[in-house]
Amino acid sequence: MPTTFTGNFTQQLPIPEEAIERAIAVMRSGRLHRYNVADGEVPETVRLENEFAAYMGARFCLACSSGGYALQTALRAFGVAAGEPVLTNGFTLSPVPGAIAAAGGNAVLVEITDDLVIDIDDLVRKARSSEARVLMLSHMRGHIADMGALMDAAEDVGVAVIEDCAHTMGARWGNTKSGAHGLAACFSTQTYKHINSGEGGFITSDDEELMARATILSGSYMLYGRHEAVPAGDVFDRVRLETPNCSGRMDNLRAAILRPQLAELDRLVDAWNVRYRAIEEVLGSVPGVRLPRRPDQETYVGSSIQFQVPGLDEVAIRALVAACTARGVELKWFGDAEPVAFTSRYDSWRYLERQSLPATDRILASLLDMRIPLTFSVEDCRLIGQIIGDSLAEVRAGGDS
Ligand SMILES: *Cc1c(COP(=O)(O)O)cnc(C)c1O
Repeated sequence: MPTTFTGNFTQQLPIPEEAIERAIAVMRSGRLHRYNVADGEVPETVRLENEFAAYMGARFCLACSSGGYALQTALRAFGVAAGEPVLTNGFTLSPVPGAIAAAGGNAVLVEITDDLVIDIDDLVRKARSSEARVLMLSHMRGHIADMGALMDAAEDVGVAVIEDCAHTMGARWGNTKSGAHGLAACFSTQTYKHINSGEGGFITSDDEELMARATILSGSYMLYGRHEAVPAGDVFDRVRLETPNCSGRMDNLRAAILRPQLAELDRLVDAWNVRYRAIEEVLGSVPGVRLPRRPDQETYVGSSIQFQVPGLDEVAIRALVAACTARGVELKWFGDAEPVAFTSRYDSWRYLERQSLPATDRILASLLDMRIPLTFSVEDCRLIGQIIGDSLAEVRAGGDS
């Protein structure tokens, strides 16, 4: 009997005791709404924003209700108008084109490379042909493009960069945190990301007007004076009456849960990367498996792993996924024409204009993806790698006979 893996791919770590204590204190106070503050009190939401701004080295930070809300709010605060083109990666998750649609923009999809990052040459071409003013750059599955080259290219074509850091909270390119390169960055604190409040998100930026607009958009009821990580009052005076309230605030309960986790984030990143490297090492020795190249400048967060098996056809890929599932290993295939759970291909976002991305199609056709929860041990990760390797060998042997 071959060994089966019995871990649960959707089981995250429990919320730390300290976070539970703080959450209970917030509930005991009754003051869950971020603007419901006692005399002299600095609420959890404000403390969290200050701490996350400091972590990112950003001037400003706004906590909000989800990562997707952060994305759409950053686009609106940038000033995306109805029908305006917005560039984004052809390989990303559905909340990204969804946020562009929510802001009224038209997503213009850009090809990716075999290393799963945006193709800078195609970006330049599409920026010129669409005349877009903004790129929603998705660091999809934690893969970071060459940020020096990307920011230079964006400047050349006059495109502002808003970063989707849902998978790169805690990551860096060189010495710069992921999210500190562009005009603004958006993060998610949803359960499957790097810190967990169930739902939640952040926008960080150094841009005064953008952040004043984002704060008003998030539903500040003109109580923005109770924020700390925001620009000065005169900036709000310029934008406050022309910016709608589109409620999407974070509450003190979630902020209380997140603060102790943020303090531990860098330690969590190390724990993810030990596990990632254990799987990577095993898969790296399996013939026919191609792992994305991770440049020296990239300090990633290995909370998931991707690999391609070039040349495997659809039948063989499905057989590989089934063989792994039978042994307890949950692989997701990004090439499936039918959207399955969180994996959907760009052509299933039918509300977008039809676009053709042959390079992305070729890459996704053999791209497999797996979550790495921190509840797995390093030993678990080695076993998972072996199961994938064995299953691939089996599928290949079956296909030949
Ligand atoms: C999860 C995710 C988001 C949005 O996060 P939510 O908090 O679920 O709205 C955005 N981009 C990517 C790539 C994601 O994986």
